[in-house]
Amino acid sequence: AKQRGKNNYQLFSQSMGVKTQKSYSIEQDIRKALLHDEFAVYYQPRVDAATGEIVSAEALIRWQHPEKGMIPPGIFIPIAEEAGLITEIGDVVATKVSQQLRQWMNEGAHICPISINVSAQGFLKTDLIMNLVSILETAQISPTLIELEITESSYLNNMGLVIEIIAELKKHGFRIALDDFGTGYSSLTHLRELKIDTLKIDRSFIRNITENKQDEIITSSVIQLAQGLNLKVVAEGVECQDQLELLKEKGCDQIQGYLFSKPVPTQEFEDLLKQGF
Ligand code: C2E
Ligand code: CA
Ligand code: CA
Ligand code: CA
Repeated sequence: AKQRGKNNYQLFSQSMGVKTQKSYSIEQDIRKALLHDEFAVYYQPRVDAATGEIVSAEALIRWQHPEKGMIPPGIFIPIAEEAGLITEIGDVVATKVSQQLRQWMNEGAHICPISINVSAQGFLKTDLIMNLVSILETAQISPTLIELEITESSYLNNMGLVIEIIAELKKHGFRIALDDFGTGYSSLTHLRELKIDTLKIDRSFIRNITENKQDEIITSSVIQLAQGLNLKVVAEGVECQDQLELLKEKGCDQIQGYLFSKPVPTQEFEDLLKQGF
């Protein structure tokens, strides 16, 4: 038994070593990617549940690695956070989004507000607001066109500070969405204290709403809660018509998910905005 315990330990430490090495090389690659402009922004439409119109879109980062191909944000964002590179990545996304909005406006195209994900580390940085405001100013884009999506990990240990940051952001005209609602440690106290505009119900609740009565009840309660608090409520990860029908019936405001569109490159999103689905 002793022998096996030792082997287990060795196995464990070896795999840890491999993992650390791997994130180290991704970290180096992220630095290169920032230098060589390898990041792109895709857009996923947010649709008015009642009319099917595109009312907004979420900006989602994409990384086309020169050798490894597309690396999903779920892999490299956590590594960027640990490496202290998330602020730079956030600036890249905000810059690309505001330049894109500026181009559309110059072309006289129809535009909609865009949501940007802000990681917990990025949100608590003192220069977040100054950075965002100056990026938008450079492109001459109003902060009212931008919604910032935050998760509960942003405020878990810093409620007072986060309340201040949100107040300041709202003074500038930004909107604030609470992402992945219902997962993690989100509590009703937070809803009362944070002056947010939008609640995004996490995909894990939506996935089985048509089969699982509990998920249906939770989702419908969250929708009612949001309505009572005067918040826009968005369902994430809607993939089929039955889910859409149920969410409409429950009074959900907006829908985001593969049913309407995956996140798509700029040009494709532009076409969707022009022509609809
Ligand atoms: P998130 O903010 O919850 O983004 C929604 C994710 O769900 C996206 O994955 C999107 O492609 C996916 N999704 C949307 N609709 C559906 C659906 O109907 N079915 C399924 N199965 N998935 C759907 P993505 O783009 O891979 O992003 C993963 C996560 O990476 C995001 O989760 C967010 O936490 C993070 N992320 C993405 N872009 C950024 C960024 O620019 N900045 C930061 N800080 N984080 C980002
Ligand atoms: Ca999000
Ligand atoms: Ca989400
Ligand atoms: Ca174009």
